[in-house]
Amino acid sequence: WEADDSSPVIQVLEKIRAEVAGLSGGRVADYIPELAHADPGLFGVAAVSAHGRSYCVGDADYAFTLQSISKPFVYAIAVEQLGLDVVHEHVGAEPSGEPFNAISLDERGRPENPMINAGAIVTTSLVENSEPGKRFERIRSVLSEFAGRELEVDEDVYRSETETGHRNRALGYLSLAGGVLVGSVEDAVQDYFRQCALSVTVRDLAVMAATLAVGGVNPVTGEQVVSQRTARHTLSIMSSCGMYDRAGEWGLRVGIPAKSGVSGGILAAAPGAFGVGVFSPPLDDAGNSVRGVAALERLSDDYDLHMLQMP
Ligand code: GLU
Repeated sequence: WEADDSSPVIQVLEKIRAEVAGLSGGRVADYIPELAHADPGLFGVAAVSAHGRSYCVGDADYAFTLQSISKPFVYAIAVEQLGLDVVHEHVGAEPSGEPFNAISLDERGRPENPMINAGAIVTTSLVENSEPGKRFERIRSVLSEFAGRELEVDEDVYRSETETGHRNRALGYLSLAGGVLVGSVEDAVQDYFRQCALSVTVRDLAVMAATLAVGGVNPVTGEQVVSQRTARHTLSIMSSCGMYDRAGEWGLRVGIPAKSGVSGGILAAAPGAFGVGVFSPPLDDAGNSVRGVAALERLSDDYDLHMLQMP
């Protein structure tokens, strides 16, 4: 159910896209070698309403990898399976104020929050599956339900990260030493690399965001993916910790729960209203997409979408 060019929402998204398309700052991530090939000119924006209507402009069908945007969804799986209290015995809920790959454990040995790498690897280790070795399949299948279509791993990006991601392995071992990572570090890290390498479009991001925004029901397929409570917990963590070490600034200027990833995607979920996905590979020095941040700032500002906006 896709809107055409005559839709006022498409016109709004086109206008914002045109306004920020000229921004040229930022750098494409290259610490995962395969990501360095991304075309810095790509730029797509999509929105999906609470009723499942989608609005896409620009490079909306271009596929890129989820990277850190997988983190809130895997957190949602763990919370759904184990409950909030058990999950947070293993990982904190405080913004770290540090970069995504920081060596950041609290006084109890827990990573500061599930949106930084250390915490996300622990969260992945918590996901249960009745069949041993099938944990990633469970993650892939739930993230696919969020997106409303089968998501697949980009094998080149996965291979590139598994060959170079030794810092993430080190973070896994620190969490194991802290007593909070469950099972084998290498298994957890491998599943984490796979979830980061799931291939999506901005349209998928918008559907995934809309599913969180409307309380865990995918508005396109009608499927209840997680409970309303789990969706709320996930949005809470995104709003405090979702934008790397710019979470505070984001809360001030945009005020929409969001998660960004190093491939250049940002997913934003306006509670009760809609989901947005933005993709543009050049990143600022915090690791957030330059055009993505600018587009969401404008959208929030021009249309009063800040979650603390008075009615
Ligand atoms: N797979 C990436 C890493 O662990 C994800 C980082 C990100 O998107 O912030 O380094």
